[in-house]
Amino acid sequence: SLSIGIVGLPNVGKSTLFNALTKNEALSANYPFATIEPNVGVVGVPDSRIGTLAEMFSSAKTIPATVDFVDIAGIVRGASEGEGLGNQFLANIRESDAICQVIRVFDDDDVTHVEGDIQPSRDIETINTELILADLQTLDKALPRLEKDAKRNAKDKTAQETLGAAQEARRVLDEGVGLSVGAKPAGIDVSLLRELNLLTVKPFIYVFNLDSEELGDSALRAKLSELVAPAEAIFLDAKIESELTELDDEEAAELLESLGQSESGLAQLARVGFATLGLQTYLTAGPKEARAWTIRKGATAPEAAGAIHTDFQRGFIKAEIVSFDDLIAAGSMQAARAAGKVRMEGKEYVMADGDVVEFRFNV
Ligand code: GDP
Repeated sequence: SLSIGIVGLPNVGKSTLFNALTKNEALSANYPFATIEPNVGVVGVPDSRIGTLAEMFSSAKTIPATVDFVDIAGIVRGASEGEGLGNQFLANIRESDAICQVIRVFDDDDVTHVEGDIQPSRDIETINTELILADLQTLDKALPRLEKDAKRNAKDKTAQETLGAAQEARRVLDEGVGLSVGAKPAGIDVSLLRELNLLTVKPFIYVFNLDSEELGDSALRAKLSELVAPAEAIFLDAKIESELTELDDEEAAELLESLGQSESGLAQLARVGFATLGLQTYLTAGPKEARAWTIRKGATAPEAAGAIHTDFQRGFIKAEIVSFDDLIAAGSMQAARAAGKVRMEGKEYVMADGDVVEFRFNV
């Protein structure tokens, strides 16, 4: 499944945030693996469409799409030099689809800062540098093999191009630029380097851990956003997030409102994570449940069916589809059908976000 790894300096609030993620009990009821695997935090993607469908179809429950947070890597300056240590810590992060960097903005004399004082721009730099150094190590280890491959298979275009991409990536990293920002202008086809699991290729999300009183400070937020643009910035108070998991919906909404927040940090994290990973949702609804399913943008109807069950993908015949907006405008499935808004789509159909679907399949 799709996953995000958390990185950051020690004492920035990574564990506090991660514990809040894994304590997400409302979700773990629907996603049992969340409690089976202690190092996975599952967050529901907020989506008001599911509630609307549940009302229309009198569904017994609602199930949102989710994003998985898989592991935490504490990184210190020089981590990449400690051969093994830094790399070992990064093992699970390497496997994840995106990286979420937690940055400390909160001030607390009782919580030591490894670098002595609170300075978000320096801390971002430190972590990014360590990730760049880790990627350089990975490339240096891989290059002799890629060179050998290219030499041995002089006519293999992929081998030549892969070596070229690796050399170019090494040059960019050597200038202190990560590949997710630097690669595009440099024109490196990073897909050729997929097997290396390079860290700086992954999409980044930045989480600023603020004091709750700072959450409403829009000037501060603008300044911090600027540090990481064009990557997305999220603002939260990790301590508040862990308190929110103990409250019921109404109490949680009240607490958030008192802090000037319209959405919890976890909800923001899920929403931004989802967008950053290039995902979209389609919806199903019936008396049992109204549910959002996760698919990649560009997924076909059979692939979407596969998100429910591999048998659905294998036995796919066709899909009955109405867009959420058309369904709501019509008022009911029956009315949407009568208005000609419900389509039968085949194997080639490319799904759109918010498609409400019923699959027909052979089992
Ligand atoms: P990690 O090393 O990055 O995993 O950091 P922890 O989550 O263990 O947090 C380090 C310390 O900072 C703990 O004592 C937390 O209670 C505290 N802490 C975490 N987030 C906040 C915050 O938003 N505000 C304040 N004041 N303290 C926090």
